[in-house]
Amino acid sequence: MKKDALFIYSDELLGYRFNDQHPFNQTRLTLTIDLLKDIQALHPDEIIAPRMATDEELFLNHDPNYVNAVKRASAGQLPPEQAEGYGIGTEDTPIFDGMHEASAFLVGGTLTAADYVMTGKTRHALHLGGGLHHGFKGKASGFCIYNDSAVAIRYLQEKYHARVLYVDTDAHHGDGVQWSFYDDPDVCTLSIHETGRYLFPGTGNINERGHGKGYGFSFNIPLDAFTEDESWLETYETSFREVVEFFKPDIILTQNGADAHYYDPLTHLSATMKIYREIPRIAHELAEKYCDGKWIAVGGGGYDIWRVVPRAWSFIWLEMTGRMDAAASFPAGWAERWKSKAGVPLPTEWTDAPDIYPAIPRKGEITEKNRHTLEKALYPIRQHLRQKPGS
Ligand SMILES: [Zn+2]
Repeated sequence: MKKDALFIYSDELLGYRFNDQHPFNQTRLTLTIDLLKDIQALHPDEIIAPRMATDEELFLNHDPNYVNAVKRASAGQLPPEQAEGYGIGTEDTPIFDGMHEASAFLVGGTLTAADYVMTGKTRHALHLGGGLHHGFKGKASGFCIYNDSAVAIRYLQEKYHARVLYVDTDAHHGDGVQWSFYDDPDVCTLSIHETGRYLFPGTGNINERGHGKGYGFSFNIPLDAFTEDESWLETYETSFREVVEFFKPDIILTQNGADAHYYDPLTHLSATMKIYREIPRIAHELAEKYCDGKWIAVGGGGYDIWRVVPRAWSFIWLEMTGRMDAAASFPAGWAERWKSKAGVPLPTEWTDAPDIYPAIPRKGEITEKNRHTLEKALYPIRQHLRQKPGS
């Protein structure tokens, strides 16, 4: 029988671990799973273990010499002067033992999701270990070694001849995925992120629209710092609806970095849990409408691993499985189990109180600026729709 949704996970994913001080911390996977199990919304027969991506699969997106360098680093055999050229051994992306294997499992998880969805065994699949959107073809960047989404999109193209819409709501620009498909008209990328003026990786401007045949298939909506829920959601919903109608994909892949929240220590947006309830709701609706339900969701950034990520990522699974009712009340036991490790007061509700941050005086100005950005980003497809005969 076809399942509504599968949850891709095994403990191998926890092996993607730089060091104890590093902000990228996969304990958030454990916290999310514990939260979902506490409310009886994740069952053992819904969990599928990821496989490890093969070298040939990694080569779909990555240069063989880069993969070889990661393998040597993984075994402690890459000299520092060589590592630098591949973006590894840096403060952001340090070398760790077994980094090749751990990274290949993250990629394999997204490939597993792709196979289950495309062969009709499930309608949707969630792989929270994935979403490493900064990985370049020949270089690591921003905590990302291999780019699971980019490998999976090539895999979906080659094995299933699918046209893929990639929607990235991480607070950082989805640069690695964008550049991998910049000249490809059969992959459409939409990234909604905090402007790169002051934030890594600095790209994601409106005018990055693609190249050659791929021109017009890359969409970027850089939002002002301090953007709040309403403006964020208006941008997300409007752009997603118009881009999916324009592109008409076979499958939607969403990257669900949870670092646009006010609490996130690395970014400057002012969203709350409200957007994390809405993000998967809209994705689900549009996957049903345009792709016969075919929807893969991956994780991504998210650096308040206690207060933000577990709730945000649980919402994706609850939406996929139609179990949002399970989030009627927040389980006290979860906070009780983790409070000694957390170092911050843990949430007691699924939503945030309205006063978690002081009022933002420039709210009106920020909203107007974001509307203007949205208008400019979508201008080519709005033009295109206007020029259609009879419309
Ligand atoms: Zn991010």
